[in-house]
Amino acid sequence: MTTPRPVAQDELAALRRRYRLERERRVRPDGVGQYRTADAEFGYYAADPYTAPAARDPRRDAVDVAVIGGGFGGVLVGTHLRRRGVERVRIVEKGGDVGGTWYWNRYPGVHCDVESHVYLPLLDETGYVPEWKYSPGDEIRRHAVRIAQMSDLYDDALFSTTVTALTWEESSETWIVDTDRGDSFRATYVVNATGTFSDPKLPGIPGIEDFTGHTFHTSRWDYAYTGGTPEGGMTGLADKRVGIVGTGATGIQVIPLLAESAAHLHVFQRTPSTVDVRNNRRTGAADVGADREGWARDRRGNYLRIVSGEAEERDLVADAWTGSAALLEKLLPSFRRQAGDRASFEAAYEAADAAKMNELRARVDAIVSDAGTAEMLKPWYRYACKRPGFSDRYYPAFNRDNVTLVDTADTHGIERVTEHGVVVGDTTYDLDCLIFATGFNVGASGILSGRLPVHGRDGAQLLHRWAQEGPRTLHGLTSHGFPNLILMGSLHNASSVNFTHVLDEQALHAASLVAAAEAEDMLIEPSRAAEDAWLAVLAEDAPDHEWFHAECTPGYYNHEGRGRPNGPAAYPHGAVAFHELLDQWRRTSMGEVLRRRTAGRP
Ligand code: NAP
Repeated sequence: MTTPRPVAQDELAALRRRYRLERERRVRPDGVGQYRTADAEFGYYAADPYTAPAARDPRRDAVDVAVIGGGFGGVLVGTHLRRRGVERVRIVEKGGDVGGTWYWNRYPGVHCDVESHVYLPLLDETGYVPEWKYSPGDEIRRHAVRIAQMSDLYDDALFSTTVTALTWEESSETWIVDTDRGDSFRATYVVNATGTFSDPKLPGIPGIEDFTGHTFHTSRWDYAYTGGTPEGGMTGLADKRVGIVGTGATGIQVIPLLAESAAHLHVFQRTPSTVDVRNNRRTGAADVGADREGWARDRRGNYLRIVSGEAEERDLVADAWTGSAALLEKLLPSFRRQAGDRASFEAAYEAADAAKMNELRARVDAIVSDAGTAEMLKPWYRYACKRPGFSDRYYPAFNRDNVTLVDTADTHGIERVTEHGVVVGDTTYDLDCLIFATGFNVGASGILSGRLPVHGRDGAQLLHRWAQEGPRTLHGLTSHGFPNLILMGSLHNASSVNFTHVLDEQALHAASLVAAAEAEDMLIEPSRAAEDAWLAVLAEDAPDHEWFHAECTPGYYNHEGRGRPNGPAAYPHGAVAFHELLDQWRRTSMGEVLRRRTAGRP
């Protein structure tokens, strides 16, 4: 890795002005309201193109645990429950198989951009060693299947099924789980594991419904139309004018392959991503020390500590994520409210950030031959404002004669879709196929989507209660008034770029709660006092990062330019400390959430 050139004060001032201008070009008054969910008349964009639902009779039986969602969260909780001897575990999954985001996202070029050897969970247990440093999506999807098979989670699973309501029945102290396939079964415990990037979104612009060409969202790739495979070779596009909207992590991966296959590709960009070196390569067991017992656990722990800003002597993964951890570490002290000299922390971060961003902008100039196109592809914001991207194939795609980059920043994105194409400014781009790489309603799936009512004790509705009082949880995982319900996800706990590691810890915790409740024949339910204490922990050292996000270009990191939502949202001391806290709590305080049953078991 080269050392970036230091940046002079006057250049820093110029960058500040430029970043502000570029942000202003993009902020929209409608903020998050600019998007529409892929439902109702747009439900087509969210339909499953990979599996036709199998006919089956509705279930009216009872299980120990219903797990909503069959992504890595779901199969991990299933695995940990099996280890604790829980027998009747039923995954209910909208897709036709397990895999979650890797079931849905099969677009050409789909890869994990976190190293596979730390991202794929349970490598020590399954004995599997990923073949690439950054696995293709299908390898990851097949690993989720491997885990589900190893943990015997298929027999009782319900696929192509969406949970439509959860209702706590006081008389039996069980949950009644209703689905869109007519099921209505009982579960002693429910775990919500519906993921963060599950709900595709579209720009809420006029005319999408008028487009007469072919159209789909990247998370529902239509190979029947494009031909080819996740490796490319989309022969169906050889005579097609294709448009793609969006240049986030997904756009970066799919655009180079579309460029190779389409007759012509129009890339509609609003904000360019940062695109750093990828350097993907085949990996053998020897490269990662996979002959040693516990190698994957050690590697994953080392990675989490580095990206969480903890001191670590060796960097086993040594990629752009761990490389940028040093940069982000400079940012963290300026988020602390009690920080001594915030201005000097900020100045140190700004200088390091500018050097990194200059390096990334220079990368564009070094690869893209047309100066005007290169200028449009340069990101003008601070590194941590948006999800970083990585690719060695993205910029070269713009040197092809059949690729046109269309900058839509001044019009705040594509303005309109017509019968025949896309309108930006005075120009209509005629298209045969329009693909939306426009991302997801982040964190708004399952019970947080508002489309799955959860009625707890006394009929209280979870989201209604939280709308009045703010979200209330203990550790983000349990909530008073909603017994035996465990919530996986990012709310009120600590997240990480290696999200499967976080999910694995949550799954372990969920299974420990269930095992303890089973052993004592009790219910899991935190008191309001325990929730208050947890909210106080979150509030005590809550970071002050709104000033940072308020200066960032809009995106899902900052509520489309509005800064972060108010109120405590995450454990402030990072994932490593959070996992230690949970571990300690399980040893000493588990009894806090166990409450006496009054009803018999179903
Ligand atoms: P995204 O990051 O939300 O990007 C959506 C893109 O659509 C942005 O470029 C956005 O522009 C653009 N857009 C939205 N509305 C538009 C409009 N009206 N006109 C023009 N452009 C518009 O979604 P994503 O790329 O699917 O990624 C979502 C997340 O999934 C990532 O951040 C990442 O966490 C995860 N992901 C991970 C991997 C992996 O390898 N692990 C791969 C793919 C995705 P603006 O930036 O201007 O809003």
